[in-house]
Amino acid sequence: MSRENNLLIIHTGGTLGMRPREPDQALAPDEVGRTILEFVPELATLAQIETRVLYNLDSTDIRPEHWLHMAREISSGITSYDGVVITHGTDAMAYTASALSFLLRNLPIPVILTGSQRPLADVRSDGRANLIGAVDLALREIREVAVYFDGKLYRGNRATKYSTFAFGAFRSPNFPLLAELGASYQRFGTSLVDDGPFRCEGRFDSRVMAVHGLPGQHSDYFEALLEVDIRGLLLVLPGVGNLPDRDGALSTALEKLTRKGTVVAVGSQSPHGRVRLERYEAGRRARDAGAVGIGDMTIEAAAVKLMYLLGTHGDPEIVRRKMAVPLAGEISTSK
Ligand code: ASP
Repeated sequence: MSRENNLLIIHTGGTLGMRPREPDQALAPDEVGRTILEFVPELATLAQIETRVLYNLDSTDIRPEHWLHMAREISSGITSYDGVVITHGTDAMAYTASALSFLLRNLPIPVILTGSQRPLADVRSDGRANLIGAVDLALREIREVAVYFDGKLYRGNRATKYSTFAFGAFRSPNFPLLAELGASYQRFGTSLVDDGPFRCEGRFDSRVMAVHGLPGQHSDYFEALLEVDIRGLLLVLPGVGNLPDRDGALSTALEKLTRKGTVVAVGSQSPHGRVRLERYEAGRRARDAGAVGIGDMTIEAAAVKLMYLLGTHGDPEIVRRKMAVPLAGEISTSK
């Protein structure tokens, strides 16, 4: 098949396509997504573009079934397009990027998510430049799921939304940029290594919950989790994964959760660096109670990976082991 800059834009919603329904009203999804090419007609000079509106959602309403749907749309067109751009809300963009990176392995083309802090219909919108940059990059040799924002291209499962204010809304705290678009194009970072042909595989179990640990948090709150059907618990704790556990009550609750078949993973409240449960006594107690550290993964990637591994493999022992093994470049294995 001849390839001549054929590009698919999948619109899923987000601020980029929103408008206030009335002056002074809250922003809500609008029909802008259907008319992206009318807002940014110069995109047509870069590529032959097909636009597909899958949804028009605030990204916080995107769920695992939407991730599977997006992956199927991309997978079924994988030989027809040179690249895919997904327009998406910024709030949950890093979750969707992580999910797609786990579902779509050995991608032969770029899949780039972008969006904006201000709507495309706004005179001061950042959406226009983000879209043009994402389309430009989606026609280059970046064969993975990435997030493009404000001139920077991030590995999708390493990105995190850092700012609700700045046009540079994203950061990649533990992995270099993949590329940057300024007056010219610069490529950095390491490419993913294929382990076979392209495949779209896996499912999600959404019975996963995240809890931000606080000083003085009552351990019986954790005991209450034993009463509900939770398969994965992501504890976001201070430092390298320190459990407030002087009386041993929290680690006892974690041990009960583990025995019940819940996978307990520990992340850090500090985005930069890695979780090291072995470093402090309290972390060791969490580890001995069955918890696994998330290494240098973002909270978004770790939460989605828990859902993915639980949905795809089910067995808590396998999930625990695979949390530490990279699926799509989301975790560094070096110490
Ligand atoms: N609430 C919006 C969303 O995530 C925010 C944005 O797009 O920037 O859909």
